[in-house]
Amino acid sequence: MPITLADEAPMRRAIEASRAALAAGNMPFGATLVSPAGELLWTAQNDQVTRGDCTGHAETVLVREVAAALGTDALRGATVYASGEPCAMCAGAMFWAGIGRVVYAASTADIAQHLGGPSTLPIRCAQVLAGATPPVAVDGPLLRDDAIAVLAAGGAKFSGGAAAR
Ligand code: ZN
Repeated sequence: MPITLADEAPMRRAIEASRAALAAGNMPFGATLVSPAGELLWTAQNDQVTRGDCTGHAETVLVREVAAALGTDALRGATVYASGEPCAMCAGAMFWAGIGRVVYAASTADIAQHLGGPSTLPIRCAQVLAGATPPVAVDGPLLRDDAIAVLAAGGAKFSGGAAAR
């Protein structure tokens, strides 16, 4: 599915959430959920540091929060906008939630370059989801430079620390 102008507003919101996550002391990642009808349903932030939960990546947090607040049907066929390309864990969580499309801003390589840290899990989101049934579309990058600016701020803040997604 091609990226269109309609993808920009929810991605800007996801990038804003990534900045808010960093300001709160977490890793700089955010995600939003848009319904098949185009309605922005949810915004989530990485909370892995403040919760002491290594699975607190924005996209996995989003799946959990939406399921609890809106019910699992809200996730089915919806689109997730992620400020950073989702890792293997988050791609799997979104697949099991029934997400139909993922759009990311900064790529996995961008994250490694600008945020850094001792850990890398280089498999691409599209590789994790390749051949999935039902299929999950993966598009990106979108607004990459905006997301990288937040990653770079995170890299400066966490340099030498245990940066992870
Ligand atoms: Zn993740």
